[in-house]
Parts: sequence; structure tokens; C-alpha cells
Amino acid sequence: MSRPIQARIDLSALKNNLRVVRRIASSRIMAVIKANAYGHGLLRAAEALKEAEGFALLDVRDAIALREAGFRQTILLLEGFFSADELPLLAEYELASVIHNPQQLAMLDAFPRRNALPVWLKINTGMNRLGFAPEQLAAAMEKLKSHPAITEVTLMTHFAHADEAEGVAEQLERFKGLTAAWRAPRSLANSAALLRYPATHGEWVRPGIMLYGASPFADTGAQQLGLQPVMTLSSEIISVRELQAGDRVGYAGLFRADKAMRIGTVACGYADGYPRHAPTGTPILVNGKRTRTLGRVSMDMLCVDLGELPDAAVGSPVTLWGNGMPVEEVAAAAGTISYELTCALTARVPVAAA
Ligand SMILES: *Cc1c(COP(=O)(O)O)cnc(C)c1O
Repeated sequence: MSRPIQARIDLSALKNNLRVVRRIASSRIMAVIKANAYGHGLLRAAEALKEAEGFALLDVRDAIALREAGFRQTILLLEGFFSADELPLLAEYELASVIHNPQQLAMLDAFPRRNALPVWLKINTGMNRLGFAPEQLAAAMEKLKSHPAITEVTLMTHFAHADEAEGVAEQLERFKGLTAAWRAPRSLANSAALLRYPATHGEWVRPGIMLYGASPFADTGAQQLGLQPVMTLSSEIISVRELQAGDRVGYAGLFRADKAMRIGTVACGYADGYPRHAPTGTPILVNGKRTRTLGRVSMDMLCVDLGELPDAAVGSPVTLWGNGMPVEEVAAAAGTISYELTCALTARVPVAAA
């Protein structure tokens, strides 16, 4: 027997979540599979999402791996290229590139190939991270439209608070105003915009987190949106003990029992990707029933309250997140977001996909 921790990837949930996108938007779907498909495994996620019209990611080596695995869709590099040396490779593998700064435009000058590169021109509408400023835009567009290497220009922007009350109105209006003069496909929507703001759909939507079955919103759960969790991180209780009032648990003794109680130790810690900052009270399932973590998460273990779970014993199954324990809830308790948790799964955790 090996250590009982495991991450299960539910491929039918991935397919279900893609169908949810399809029902909501009639746009082409650019499935965002950056960061190893948010920790779910690049090629396995792409295979389950193969009905998508495109894949978006960052690393050109991952893009080439997709091509070599036989994927023929649009593949978009979300940060584009970083030096002119990469351009022949992009042309060879037919990779589309975001162009977000004047330095990248300049790198195109010396590129001799004709009709080789589709580009997505990124416009800064308020995120202030990547993208051309309004006053740089007309010159960039003219250059791309007349450049012999460029096959097609798609116009894109990215929203800073589609998941919050502030919404997309200001950035959407700015984008519309800046792009009104050009006939080109448009792409604006991440998961939150796709779900809440049909006016952002355009020719291409760019869902990420919703494909993995997590809600981008604090006030609406994934289940309400028809999404199914894709990653379930599970383990087992490997030790059980009785505490007396005053006994403390784990490093720094952060939890102190105020009465006699039963606790369990779970084979999962921050070296598996569980957040070390999850405080006492973070929700967790033991034997399919909800309880709470106790004290500090250590490298390889964490402790749970078995006070209401008299049947729990060594070997009882534990769900850290996933089926029955929304990853967004665990993330919220730990002061982070679901994206960070699934991305943080570490290489030592065995993954089983079905
Ligand atoms: C990551 C990313 C997305 C997907 O965002 P989600 O919130 O996961 O849906 C879309 N567009 C861009 C540019 C991104 O970087």
C-alpha cells in the first residue's frame, strides 16, 4: 500500500462543463489550458475538451506538444512571443500569438515569412497589465493589417472585475469605442463575463476556471451554474486520538481543545498542494460528512475534528476538495481562490483520470 493521497480527474465533468459553455455562448470556444490546465494535466484536459475550437496557454513547448499530439485547433499563446527567434517556430507549428506591446511589433519587422502568423491584438482597457494603450492602437492595427506575415488580426481585451459587483461596463464601453472602426473578430470574455454578460461574448469566448467546474463568483456556487467539479483531492485518516481539555494540536499549538475531543490526522499537507494558510475551521469531508481542520497544516499532514463523527477511524476516506466539497469554499477559508489551489497540486500526488 502506498500513501493514500490521490487526485482524481473526472473527464466527463470536463466535457459537461464545456457543454455548459456551449449552451450559454454561441461564440467559438478558446479553452484556457494554461498552467497545466489549471493543474489538471495539459494533454488529458485538451483531449477531453477537443470539441473546443481553440486552446490558450503560455508556453510554446506546451503548444508544440499539443500539435504533436494531433490537435489541429487554433492554439493561442496568451503572452505571445518573447524574442524574434521564436517566430519561425510559431509559423512552423501554426501557433497564434497575442501581441500586447510595441516591442513585439518591432520583432515582426525582420520576419520574412508571408502569411504565417495569426495574431490577437491585446488592448488595455483598464487592467493595466498587458495590452496597447488607446493612443498606440491605431498605429499597431495599421502595421499588423499591412504586414505580409500576418494572416488575421483578432481584437481582444481582458476584464479586471467581471467576477465582482463592479462588472464589465466601463471596460466593455472602452473596448467598443476603441475598436468600432475595424472589422475583425473580437474576444473579451473570461468565465465570469461569459456567465454574466452576454454582451461580451463576441466571436471567441475564453473560459478557464468554469471548465474545471469551479465558480468564478463568491455569491454563486458551481452547482447552481450547472458545473461539475473536475479535480477531487482525497486521502485517508492515518491516525486517531483523544484530546483532553487544554491539549494543543500541531506546530505552534495553534488549536487548543477546550474540552475532551476526538481528532484525526490526514495524509495531506502543503507539500501536496494543500494551502498552509488554511486556518482552523477550513471545511473538509470525512466519511462523506463535513467537518473542520484543526491547527496548522504541516508539510505532509493536517488534523481534523472527529467530534461529530464517531464512526471515523484509521482508513476513513477524506475529501480535501472536489466532489462534495467545493474547492471555492476551501479556497475562501484559506484566503485564496480555487485557481491557486488546483494549480498548486504537486508532482508527488498520484493522479488518476477517468
Ligand atoms: C486565464 C485567462 C482567461 C481565463 O480566465 P478564467 O477566469 O479562468 O475563466 C481568459 N483570458 C485570459 C487572457 C487569461 O489570461
